[in-house]
This record gives sequence, C-alpha cells and structure tokens, in this order.
Amino acid sequence: MAFVDLHLHSRFSDGTYEPEELAAQARRCELAAIALTDHDSVEGCPGTAQACAAAGIEFIAGTELTAEQDGNEVHILGYCMDTQNSRLLTQIARFQAVRQDRIREMVARLNRIRVPLSADAVFALANCRAPGRPHVARALVAAGLCASLDEAFERFLKKNRPAWVPKFKMSGEEALDLIHQAGGVAVMAHPGLNRTDQVIPRLVEAGMDGIECFHTKHSTATTEHYLELADQFHLLVTGGSDCHGLNKGKPLIGTVKVPYQHLELLKARAAEIRAAATPHPSS
Ligand SMILES: [Zn+2]
Ligand SMILES: [Zn+2]
Repeated sequence: MAFVDLHLHSRFSDGTYEPEELAAQARRCELAAIALTDHDSVEGCPGTAQACAAAGIEFIAGTELTAEQDGNEVHILGYCMDTQNSRLLTQIARFQAVRQDRIREMVARLNRIRVPLSADAVFALANCRAPGRPHVARALVAAGLCASLDEAFERFLKKNRPAWVPKFKMSGEEALDLIHQAGGVAVMAHPGLNRTDQVIPRLVEAGMDGIECFHTKHSTATTEHYLELADQFHLLVTGGSDCHGLNKGKPLIGTVKVPYQHLELLKARAAEIRAAATPHPSS
C-alpha cells in the first residue's frame, strides 16, 4: 500500500530541510508523494518539485495560511495551486511583510526589557521571507539569552508574555478564496489543535474542500471524530506529519501514514476547480 505525507515545512518557512533533504527523507520513509506546505510561502515548491522528480516521488505544491474565523485562529492548507498565480503571490508578499514587521516589533519589545537581541540576528538566522516566532526563539538560544526554545516561549514569546505581538490575519473565507482563485484545494489544518469545530459549518458553506484528519498531534479518538465530520459535511480527508525538520529533535516526516487514495480524491477535486475556472470554448 502507498502512503503520502501532505503537511511538511522546509527552510523556506520555519522548517530546517532544504528541498533535496526533504526528498531524501521522503524516499527513506518510502512515501509515494509529499506536499510542501510552508507558512505564507510557495517559494520552496519549484526546488522541491525538482528534487522529488529526481528521487521518483510525486510532488504536490502547497502552502499553509494563517487565518482567523469568528475570533478563532485557523490554519488553511492550500494544495495544487498555480504557484505563479499573481494574486496569490501579491497576497503572500503582503503576509511576509507583515511577518517581518512583527519580528521587528517583538525584538523592540525584548530590547525594552533589556534583552539585547537584534532584528538582523533573527533575519540572518531565519534566512527566509516568512520568519516567525520559532526563529526569534532560535535566535534567543543562539545568542545565549535563553537556555532552550521552550524557555524562550515561556519567558518571552507566548501569548501575553512581554515580547508577544498579535498577528494580522485574514478571514478564513479570504484564505479559501485566495486558494481557490489560484486553482487550489482548500483544507483546514489540524482542527484538533485549534479546537475550532464551531467554525467548520461556516467554512464548509464558504467552499472549504477538506479537513486534515490525520496529524501528528491528533489522538486516535480525535482522528475518528474528524473522519466522522468529514463524512457528515462531505469533505475530503487529508493528513500529514507537520514535520519541521530537525527543529524539535527527531524529524516527524513519515510518522503519519496517510493512504494514497486520499491524494487521489484531492487531485480529482483540483481538476474540477481548474475546469470550473477555465472558460468553455465556444463552438
Ligand atoms: Zn499549522
Ligand atoms: Zn504546519
């Protein structure tokens, strides 16, 4: 039986792997296909597509957008989009600028409480256009200002800690629309982590295509619960490890086994979305 991992991060957001390493890891795990879903970025997709082709692994272009629905943070995964779509790229550039401003603001707040970190140190370490809190945490550890990533979050970066800065978010509906207009399939990521079941009917109404039932942090009971919801709302089922590389010890890639048939259905939906967007030739 063939398996896929549809939720992976690379060094183009807060993961550590280069495209070649990701393809090599996928091969080691004997995965038939992988999707790259970096936060607010599709930059790693062309390189990973190439590396996967060389390794004989099917590649699905993706991204993970942070959104807010009725006061709840939701992550929306996009799959099979045209990664050259101009509206998608314009919006992503805007989200990336917001992320960079947020880093500067977090560093300013740290400096105010006499933690001598520089924004440039964070940007140099992040080495990507979509930096986030994990990069600030890593920079704090690298500068010897915190003993561990956990300490960095606990003391400074967690919500309502001194260096926490609220994040601008688009609505869930906007995220779905952005993915759909780029020809992609929109899926709610790790619903069990955000505990946002109450927003699911609204997003389904807005055209959400699927729900991530299989995830590293979902228990068997949680997975069962979302499989039932997927059935109830006629949603596609997806899953992945949410691997960030070597950030948090052992890499997670391949630890969540998702049968290939789910990818088959996802690709069929992507084809439908593209067909609906293409004007019919006049006879
Ligand atoms: Zn997420
Ligand atoms: Zn993720």
